[in-house]
Amino acid sequence: MTVRAILTYPDPRLRKKAQPVREFGPELARLVADMADTMYAAPGVGLAAPQIGVSLRVVVIDITPKEEGRDLKVLVNPRILDPEGEIIDTEGCLSVIEYSAKVKRAAKIRVEAQDLEGRPFSFVAEEWFARVVQHEVDHLDGILYIDRISRLKRSMYEKKLKKILREQERAGSR
Ligand SMILES: [Zn+2]
Repeated sequence: MTVRAILTYPDPRLRKKAQPVREFGPELARLVADMADTMYAAPGVGLAAPQIGVSLRVVVIDITPKEEGRDLKVLVNPRILDPEGEIIDTEGCLSVIEYSAKVKRAAKIRVEAQDLEGRPFSFVAEEWFARVVQHEVDHLDGILYIDRISRLKRSMYEKKLKKILREQERAGSR
């Protein structure tokens, strides 16, 4: 198990549509273990395989508060069905540094996915959990939450990011 580097915007690998998982074996289990380690180390509540540069439709999620222990959810080839309602709430992303913004998401969804052995399962997710699933499944399609905010906010973030990256570069070359 390894904590992997998380790619950050504007890395073009975050924009690729991820491929469906077809082989359910030890390699997939290893990938999921690394993804969980990486998510917990960050720390974050969700991570999609493309965020560590693996173009496969795999997501890990754990929205349990730290003091309540761990409840890791692994979604392989997830699909979102029957979106209902709308909630606007603040989102951030491990791949979008130093930013958060309000995003509109479905309040309730049904999710179909497969587990590590390829067995299909489905469940209903609501509110914050539904938001995290939608955010992570977006990653599998090369979509970031900043694609879902206004153009003005987006351009303000682009400006801020350019400045941050410039400063990082300067600090690194010292
Ligand atoms: Zn994200």
